[in-house]
Amino acid sequence: MSTNQAQLCEVFNSIQGEGLYVGERQTFVRFAGCNLSCQYCDSPQALTIPKEFKVELVPGKKSFQPYANPVSVSQLIEIIKSLDKPKGMTHSLSLTGGEPLLQIDFLKEFLPEFKKELKLPIYLETNGVLPDHLSEVVENIDIVAFDLKLPSATGLSPYWKEHQKALEIATLVEVFVKIVFNKDSKPKELDDAVNLIAGIDEKIPLVLQPVTPFGPIKHRPNAEQILAFQAIAKRKLKNVRVIPQTHKIMGIS
Ligand code: SF4
Repeated sequence: MSTNQAQLCEVFNSIQGEGLYVGERQTFVRFAGCNLSCQYCDSPQALTIPKEFKVELVPGKKSFQPYANPVSVSQLIEIIKSLDKPKGMTHSLSLTGGEPLLQIDFLKEFLPEFKKELKLPIYLETNGVLPDHLSEVVENIDIVAFDLKLPSATGLSPYWKEHQKALEIATLVEVFVKIVFNKDSKPKELDDAVNLIAGIDEKIPLVLQPVTPFGPIKHRPNAEQILAFQAIAKRKLKNVRVIPQTHKIMGIS
């Protein structure tokens, strides 16, 4: 009998609003707890561990059923199965947070069990600073959405060493990198990040994500900065796109 359990924040089915898979329908499992404290965290509800997590039974209805934390592997698989409605709509299972890789013991058991029961690809959103944890589960991940953190976005010291190791591991499967930047982000830190990616593989896709236009206006990059940042990245990488968070424009989760 397994004792592995996860602390969650919410489970719901919606449209992926950012990154290379923008517009795809996914079931999202939002893990509770994070090892970083980014200044511009867009999921502050996931930074602490609640007594209950919520499940949106009908996508888009915003009516939630509470479940007690922690959740077992089999219970979470049943919840995910119940959200694939209409059947066949869902492109993949998004593990997000918070930082899912913090709950590595649960993932090591959950991922193989999930793959036995459902054919959905696994899409992992990670802050990319836990390479040892990533290496323990990467064989059961299909797509890594790798959030590479600029010091201007975290307000913390750079994580280049951790990012380098984790990104090398992520290239064992499909990976793209996302970099959030704001008005205060510096060309030099972006260039350092781009050099890190290009040093591993210049073909790794990069999505530059200006902080959401619905955030405080004082943090938003202007058009000139956005174009300049794309130019810096395109000098060294083959596939660079600028994509903001679109789910906020649509008013969905
Ligand atoms: S890594 Fe993600 S969840 Fe954690 S603080 Fe940063 S933005 Fe928020």
